[in-house]
Amino acid sequence: MIQFHPSRSAALEQLQAFVDNHLSLYARDRNFDFGPDQRTNTSCLSPYVTHGILSENEIIKLSLKKFSYTKIEKFIQEVLWRTYWKGWLERRPSVWTDFINDLKYLKPDYESDKNLKAAMNGNTDIDCFNDWVHELQETGYLHNHTRMWFSSIWIFTLNLPWQLGAEFFMKYLKDGDPASNTLSWRWTAGVQTKGKNYLAQEWNIKKFTNGRYEKIKLNENATPVVSDKEYIQIDPDFTNSQITNDQTLIIFDNQLSFEHSDFKDTEFKNIMLIQNTNLTRTIELDDELVKFKRGLIEDQQQRLQDHIETEIRDISYLKNLDLTDKVALYPGVGENLDYCLHNQINLSFLYRRLDQTTNPYCQKGFFNFKNYIPKIISGING
Ligand SMILES: Cc1cc2nc3c(=O)[nH]c(=O)nc-3n(C[C@H](O)[C@H](O)[C@H](O)COP(=O)(O)OP(=O)(O)OC[C@H]3O[C@@H](n4cnc5c(N)ncnc54)[C@H](O)[C@@H]3O)c2cc1C
Repeated sequence: MIQFHPSRSAALEQLQAFVDNHLSLYARDRNFDFGPDQRTNTSCLSPYVTHGILSENEIIKLSLKKFSYTKIEKFIQEVLWRTYWKGWLERRPSVWTDFINDLKYLKPDYESDKNLKAAMNGNTDIDCFNDWVHELQETGYLHNHTRMWFSSIWIFTLNLPWQLGAEFFMKYLKDGDPASNTLSWRWTAGVQTKGKNYLAQEWNIKKFTNGRYEKIKLNENATPVVSDKEYIQIDPDFTNSQITNDQTLIIFDNQLSFEHSDFKDTEFKNIMLIQNTNLTRTIELDDELVKFKRGLIEDQQQRLQDHIETEIRDISYLKNLDLTDKVALYPGVGENLDYCLHNQINLSFLYRRLDQTTNPYCQKGFFNFKNYIPKIISGING
């Protein structure tokens, strides 16, 4: 079974091995889930991308060193899906806030729900679903197609709210990401693209698991979840704060490769790496995931310590800190930003160039975003 070592060196090794040995067949094979012991047909880089250990730029650059754009277009599109979802959520942050608020009333309502218990324990009547629950809990990872089937079964066959499923994923996924996760669950439910739900079908699961599962009883005709919520877009201001000499740079757990960031050549007095534990989160994370995150933060500290003074602090430390000489890499919509907003921690932010460039393209659907990919790539290479 796949294991993710919490280090940049492991991430780089994984990226190089994927590009050298499997990227050429990605478009053909990527939709197959051959099982937890055969995870080479997709990159399995998402836990590293989520934490900023590897950036989208870095992955695309290395891939394009070996292959032409047309040969690996599908892979590049997938890498940038993540960037797109992130930008989409930045323009509609209340989608995240509503998800978090919905959990507050749904959780007590479902406290003794038998379907929910069976689903979370991997103890339903659906074998493949049960296997995926155990795989998720043991590895912190599921194949993309499986995430689609899983979320569909959760919502339409087990009749559970998508929000509780999204929370369940965030608890275990090593790549758990506020944008990709929340918006994908909404997409399956039929509230992201209104009126269009994703229905897992028996033939599809059988085909793309290479016949490992069959005769699965699913609700293949369910209607989409209905939501009358409309979200008004904002135009977020991603202008960088002024950088002056002698500032402390604050880094959250989603941008953990400072030495490869847009700001690597800027002089800072020191660096403060921020960890957000279960004491300060709304969604409680599994112990293994907490350990993984801690490992990645420590790895960043080790890589930096010979070059700049670097300390690790809990996010609560920011509450009583004088922020006048501090600047932070923008953590994006999610739990870190929530904590700062709820505790009146008014940080000045620095934004990734990629997010600054791509955010205006996230106003509409991914179909529209795709038109800008060649332009985005010339920016990455430029
Ligand atoms: C219900 C559901 C929940 C999801 N939750 C998350 C999540 O919390 N975090 C997360 O990173 N992804 C999430 N995804 C997207 C996707 O499943 C994973 O990014 C992908 O499976 C990661 O495996 P990989 O690295 O082998 O992907 P590859 O196929 O090798 O793709 C390369 C990279 O592209 C990005 N990517 C690929 N597919 C998608 C996608 N559909 N959406 C966004 N980015 C993508 C990832 O960064 C990935 O590492 C979710 C999808 C669904 C359907």
